[in-house]
Amino acid sequence: MLFSARNDFNTHLNHIRTYISLKSTFSRQNSPKPISTAKPILSQDNLFHPLSKSPFEDLRHRYKQICVYGSCPVCLSQDNEVKNKPKYECPDCGYPTHCSLEHYLQDKEKHKNLGTCSMLKQSNEDEHDLRSGRTMIELDFPSSQPLDEQVNMLNWDLYFYTRGFPSMDNDRSVRHVSKLLTYPITIASILHEYGPYTIKNRLTDEGLKSLTALRTILYPKVISHDIKSQNPKEIIRIFVLGARAESLLPLHIYSQLSYLFPFTYFHIYFIGPESLPSINNTSHKHTNYAPQLSFTWSTTFYHDYHDSLTPFDPYTDVFFLFSPGISQTNTWHDTMIKLLQTKCAIFITGFDQEDLHSEVNAIEEKSEKGEYELDWLLRPGENVFKSMKREIDLKDVRVGVWANWGIFGIRGKKYDVVHEDDR
Ligand SMILES: [Zn+2]
Ligand SMILES: [Zn+2]
Repeated sequence: MLFSARNDFNTHLNHIRTYISLKSTFSRQNSPKPISTAKPILSQDNLFHPLSKSPFEDLRHRYKQICVYGSCPVCLSQDNEVKNKPKYECPDCGYPTHCSLEHYLQDKEKHKNLGTCSMLKQSNEDEHDLRSGRTMIELDFPSSQPLDEQVNMLNWDLYFYTRGFPSMDNDRSVRHVSKLLTYPITIASILHEYGPYTIKNRLTDEGLKSLTALRTILYPKVISHDIKSQNPKEIIRIFVLGARAESLLPLHIYSQLSYLFPFTYFHIYFIGPESLPSINNTSHKHTNYAPQLSFTWSTTFYHDYHDSLTPFDPYTDVFFLFSPGISQTNTWHDTMIKLLQTKCAIFITGFDQEDLHSEVNAIEEKSEKGEYELDWLLRPGENVFKSMKREIDLKDVRVGVWANWGIFGIRGKKYDVVHEDDR
C-alpha cells in the first residue's frame, strides 16, 4: 500500500518535471519585436480572463487540458468511485478548480485561505500579460558590464540593479525575467566570486576547494591582451545534463552568464534526449555564438556521450542538473557513477522542497550503501536565483512549483586532482 502511494507520488512529480516549460515566454522572445506604436491587444487593467474565455487560444486550450487531466479536490477527498473532472471556473482566479458549483462552494474557504486562489489569479494575469502585446521593456537585457562596475550577486534585486536591467520595479516583470534567467544566473551565482554561497552560508570546505579551482581559471591573474583570441588556452566547460527547457532558451539569455565573466571562454553542452537546439532539429549541433561563448547540443544519453568528452578537469569542468529527477528513475545511476569519477563539481536543483529532499535522499542512500563515494560541496537549501514564477500543475492546480527552487552540490571523493596544465 505504502509502495503504491509512493509510485503515484513519483508519477505526479515526473509530470510536473516535464511541465516546467518555457514555451509561452519563449515564443514571445522569438517573435519579431513589437513595434512600440502598435496597440496592445490587452491593456494593463484588462489582464484577468477566465481561461475558457481567454482571447488567446493556447490559454483556452489550457482550460480544456485541465478539464481532461485535472482533478476536483472535493471528489478526490471522497471515497466515491467517481472522480469528476474540474470544469467549474472559480470567478476570482479564472481556473477550472472544481467539478461543479456545489463542490466549489463546499471547498471555497480552503481554496481561498490556503492561497490557491491568489496563486492562480496571479498566474492568470501573468499569462495574459505575456501575450498582451505590450512592449516588454524588461526583456531588453543589458549587454556587457563595464569592467570597473562590480555586480552584486546576493539576490535577484541586487543583481538586476547592479547589472542595469530596465524597468524591474514590479513583481510581474521580475517573475517573467527570472523564469528565463534562472538557468544561466543560477550557474553564474555558483561560479561567481561574489556569489551568495560562502563558508558561512552552506558552502563546505570541500565546496570551497572545488570553486577555488574553477575560479583560478574564471579569474585569470594574467589577462591576455587579446581576449577575443581564436584559440583560448582555457575554456570553462559547463555540462547541462538531462537538458529540457534550458536547452531551448534563446542563446542571448546565456550571454547574461558570459557578461559576468569578461575574461572567460565558456562552452555549454546540453546533453540528453530532450535537449533540442532552438536553431534546428539535427541530433548533434554546435555553434560559436559569441567570441567567448559556444554551445553544443546532443540528444545522446549522457552515459554514451561521456567518453567523447574526456579528459575531465575539475579546474575547467562543471556539471549542472536542473530538476533531474534522480530519485524517480534508475537511469541516472550509471551517469552519476561517471560524473563522480571525474572529481568535477556537480550541482543539482529541485522544483520545491519535497523534490529537493527526494533527490538528496536518493543520493544519500546510495552513498550510505557505498555505491557513491562523494563529498558535499553545497548543503541543500533554497536557490537564491530560483524562478520567481510558479508553474501550475494541470493535473492538480493546487500545486505550483518554481523552476530551480532549491540547489545542492556534490563531487566524487578523494580530492587529489591535478590541473591538466600542470601534469
Ligand atoms: Zn467534485
Ligand atoms: Zn479561485
